[in-house]
Amino acid sequence: MRLVLLGLPGAGKGTQGERLAEKYSIPHISTGSLIRSVINSGLKLGEIVNAYIAKGNLIPDEYMMEILRQRVLADDCRNGWILDGFPRTVQQAKHLDEMLKRDSTVLDRAFDIRISAEEAVSRITNRRVCRSCGQIYSIEHSPEKVKGICDKCNGPLYQRPDDNVEVATHRIQVYMEQTHPVVHYYAQTGRLTSINGEQGIDGVFADLQVAVAELYAKKAGEEL
Ligand SMILES: [Zn+2]
Repeated sequence: MRLVLLGLPGAGKGTQGERLAEKYSIPHISTGSLIRSVINSGLKLGEIVNAYIAKGNLIPDEYMMEILRQRVLADDCRNGWILDGFPRTVQQAKHLDEMLKRDSTVLDRAFDIRISAEEAVSRITNRRVCRSCGQIYSIEHSPEKVKGICDKCNGPLYQRPDDNVEVATHRIQVYMEQTHPVVHYYAQTGRLTSINGEQGIDGVFADLQVAVAELYAKKAGEEL
C-alpha cells in the first residue's frame, strides 16, 4: 500500500503515520528524518543536500526525488510505504507519479488530515518537548503529570523556539500556498480521502483504518 499523508503542521501526520506503519507493517517515511539520515550518511548526495540546507535554501526537486527513490527501493518498502512531508508542491506530486510509473506502480491514496488554521496554531503553541528523550506533550490535551518534567524519563520539558504564534502562522501560510494545492491535485485524480483531524488521535486513526482496510479489500478483489 502506497500512501501519502497531507495536512497542516500540527494535524498529527507523524503520529498517525507511525501508527499506520505499525498496524500494516509498512515503513513510515518522514522526509525530515530521511533528509537528516542522508546528510549523516557520508555519501556525496548528503554533502550536496547539506550545502543547500546550510544556506537555508530548499532542496531542488531532482535531489529530493533521488533521495526518495533510493529510500523506496529499499527492501522494507516491498509492500509499500507511508509518506509524510512529501509531496510539498503539485510539481513534486507530479514527479512522484512519474517516478512510480517508471517502476510500474501507483500511489494508492492520499489522506488529507483536516484541521483549521486556529487549531493548528493552538496545537503548535501548546506543544512541549522533552529535552532528553524527545517525547511530545500538549499542555492542553496531553499534559505531563508533574509540571515541566517528562513522564517517561524525568527530563526537562521545553518549548521549541519555532513553536510560537508568528512562526506557526508563517508555516500555515506557506502550507496553504504551496502544499494545499496538492490536495486538489489528488482530488481531481480521484485519489483523495479527507479525514476529520479535529477528533482525538484515536478517532483519526479509526477513520484512517477504515479507509485503508477498504483499499486492501479493493486490491484483493482486483488480484482475484
Ligand atoms: Zn523524556
